[in-house]
Amino acid sequence: MKQPIFLEPLFQERIWGGSKLSKTYGYQIPSNQTGECWAISAHSNGPSVVRSGELKGRSLAKLWEEYPDLFGHFESDRFPLLTKILDANDDLSVQVHPNDEYANEYEYGELGKTECWYIIDCNEDAEMIFGHHAQSKEEFIHMVKQSHWDDLLQRVKIKPGDFFYVPSGTIHALCKGTLVLETQQSSDTTYRVYDYNRRDNEGNLRELHLEKAIEVINVPHKATEIHPALAQTSGGSITTFVEEDYFTVYKWHVQTTMEFIQDAHFMLGSVIEGQGSLYTEEGEFALQKGDHFILPNELSSFKIKGNVQIIASHPNYKGGQHHDMGSTAKQMANV
Ligand code: ZN
Repeated sequence: MKQPIFLEPLFQERIWGGSKLSKTYGYQIPSNQTGECWAISAHSNGPSVVRSGELKGRSLAKLWEEYPDLFGHFESDRFPLLTKILDANDDLSVQVHPNDEYANEYEYGELGKTECWYIIDCNEDAEMIFGHHAQSKEEFIHMVKQSHWDDLLQRVKIKPGDFFYVPSGTIHALCKGTLVLETQQSSDTTYRVYDYNRRDNEGNLRELHLEKAIEVINVPHKATEIHPALAQTSGGSITTFVEEDYFTVYKWHVQTTMEFIQDAHFMLGSVIEGQGSLYTEEGEFALQKGDHFILPNELSSFKIKGNVQIIASHPNYKGGQHHDMGSTAKQMANV
């Protein structure tokens, strides 16, 4: 199949959610406390379904099982990634995620959760929590017990266009006034460390998972350095944000016409701004802001026209050799 597979997004209400997913992307959301758009997902807690074409109505999880050709026979017992858009209208809980080994053992075969964030938009003075200042687990536990949150947690200023890589074991939280595109492992395991003593509509505190959090947290905190690389061309630009275990993430900013060669197993794409068209041997496919799609394995060359920004990604094998960046999503000379 040489055409994009468009998916229907799914929505999750959250105590910290808002209405930006409707205002910014025109989605039909269930309420004004909608926190998450699960855009490309084969996770059982929110599986995507194909929106159109000959595969319409099939779930991504089923496609993974029944049509391995679409995914270039990528070796994994499940669709490995999950793309979300998060509307943090209020602060998210301070949290940490386990790695593969821990999640497999203690969370019934779940994957670990390494994730990354592209900041689509945020308030002028927005921040996030990323890392902590404790030097040992004892110190970490002591500061948690004493509720010394301001001393413990590291805050970082953010602005639109910023990108953060959040490996499992990193303590983190999105804060109020942030709209984010998240690319992560296909996992739904979160250990809450602190939830601001907030109560839900029924007056209940949300559960914390301190023991597990303390087991999986990296102490001392050490940020994994990433070096986003921008490649300018006459038709637009490609930014490669991160190329690590589990995934590589790009921004394709098409300003006129760009041609692409794909040699990843398959790719995931989310239109975050603008509109355009994607051309393949099999036809022309409109790209609208808020669309999410998969580019299957056989779609090895395509063209995008318009003025459009897409966050694209593909999975990597953990610890395996990374794809040669030069050819993974290379832009050819404009012709
Ligand atoms: Zn998280």
